[in-house]
Amino acid sequence: MIRLTELRLPLDHSPEALRAAVLERLGIAPDDLQDLHVARRGYDARRRGRILLVYSMDCVIRDEAAALARFADDPHVQPTPDTAYRMPLAPADAPRPVVVGAGPCGLMAALILAQAGLRPIVLERGKAVRERTVDTFALWRRSVLTPESNVQFGEGGAGTFSDGKLYSGVSDPRHLGRKVLEEFVKAGAPEEILFVSKPHIGTFRLVSMVEHMRAEIERLGGEYRFETRVVGLVGDRAVDGTTTLLRALRLADGSELAASQVVLAVGHSARDTFEVLRDCGVAMTAKPFSIGVRIEHPQSVIDLARFGDQAGHAMIGAADYKLVHHASNGRGVYSFCMCPGGTVVAATSEAGQVVTNGMSQYSRAERNANAGMVVEVTPERDYPGDVLAGVAFQRHWEKAAFVAGGGDYRAPAQRVGDFLAGRASVHLGSVVPSYKPGVTPTDLSLCLPDFAVEAMREALPHFERKLRGYAMEDAVMTGVETRTSSPIRMARDVEGQSPTWRGLFPAGEGAGYAGGILSAGIDGIRAAEWVAAALRRATDRA
Ligand code: FAD
Repeated sequence: MIRLTELRLPLDHSPEALRAAVLERLGIAPDDLQDLHVARRGYDARRRGRILLVYSMDCVIRDEAAALARFADDPHVQPTPDTAYRMPLAPADAPRPVVVGAGPCGLMAALILAQAGLRPIVLERGKAVRERTVDTFALWRRSVLTPESNVQFGEGGAGTFSDGKLYSGVSDPRHLGRKVLEEFVKAGAPEEILFVSKPHIGTFRLVSMVEHMRAEIERLGGEYRFETRVVGLVGDRAVDGTTTLLRALRLADGSELAASQVVLAVGHSARDTFEVLRDCGVAMTAKPFSIGVRIEHPQSVIDLARFGDQAGHAMIGAADYKLVHHASNGRGVYSFCMCPGGTVVAATSEAGQVVTNGMSQYSRAERNANAGMVVEVTPERDYPGDVLAGVAFQRHWEKAAFVAGGGDYRAPAQRVGDFLAGRASVHLGSVVPSYKPGVTPTDLSLCLPDFAVEAMREALPHFERKLRGYAMEDAVMTGVETRTSSPIRMARDVEGQSPTWRGLFPAGEGAGYAGGILSAGIDGIRAAEWVAAALRRATDRA
């Protein structure tokens, strides 16, 4: 098969136009094109009002070798890559691996281990996804937080109540992202996620997909234990004196679970678990993340700014955006996790704190667009010292946001006009904030570091120039966005294991190796492969 890339057609092209464009591009007769399907569809909206669809097409043609030879110097005519996933080999009768955390990383790790015949045990501190949904809504509707069952904790992990964006910038030479997407389709995601360039599935579908994946893991012999929190590692000092061989996991109910191969996929909000791991000597370092706010605009403003009079076209949907500004105080300011037609959500997992994030449904039909507007922070400049000083930094600002919001889980909010003028908001304007359980108009500088306020004030007019309406007076900023990525990275060696704890495979966002659903899933596959390889080595030695 041949893959033809960068085929550009107008937004309103006819179905036949695609085939005609392929024939013309390859210079072949209609009878020579035996089969054709879309490998990828994106759009180029750089010229507002003249948006083009950009296709990659997989074509079966007569005499492919001759065609490839004719286009030998053309990077846009190449053999279709082999994206098939090859399952790792696993020894029979191996001890059952354990996966800690049922977010996208843990789910994919458990699925691969189950498909390889290793019957994993999945430990998840939160509840099964339906019960978890009830607890999550209790914070949004009634200001009641359940610390073990919320937006961050529970089956499906942090990405369950989200926009379900399924793209990532990570390098993926083995096409592991394709395997993640294929498994999501089997679990009920729409097939289009396999070919649209920026797929998303929305919250509603994610919930049922997570249940389908659990059913498949169990069908293959895996096992889930909910409301089971890991609180310690048990091991034997190796003869080299520097490493410990993992033997068991200590659980919150006081029991121990024998485990010699553990995928640790606990996400970026498992702060108590980070402390336990640090105290057990799991090698880790502090890493940068970002802090800022969610900003909301009417979706119609963003659509118009990006798409002009083609706004609303069914082929492109609600517009997203990506913005970056390097502020003169040395801080990078950027848009984060943009959710077109969505809502801002309360995303704390700890009492007395306020944290924002965003979600949407598949239709992306809500009135407002929201995205993080965040400022980079680094251990060297902002939280030197202990490896978990970044957690203390996050907590400090999350508590300040709780206080500024009124102390009842409402979030502090400010109009952009007031933020730029340096005055507190006393009321909001035409943009109605979507955050539940509600917002308190105030001064966001009460709950953000000065350098972040300064950098955001500078960035807003720059963003306005790139996206008309971005700095509109009534746009609403809601704070604080602190959990953009993990504040730590756990070390791992070439075999995917902690260099200090053999048998422990730190993975996913919490370990510092992913930043989103897709990259966490990809890392979960890698972790499962490393576990299978370790078990093969152990069998070979025996
Ligand atoms: P997590 O998803 O955080 O999963 C970790 C799991 O481990 C949790 O279920 C937790 O309960 C469990 N756990 C923690 N500690 C323990 C313990 N000690 N014992 C047992 N279990 C434990 N990303 C995107 O790509 N697209 C989006 O649209 C998107 N939107 C988002 C919206 C929201 C509201 C949020 C919060 C996040 C969003 N993200 C999005 C980010 C994405 O969800 C994360 O990057 C991803 O979930 C990380 O996956 P993970 O498996 O590494 O960790």
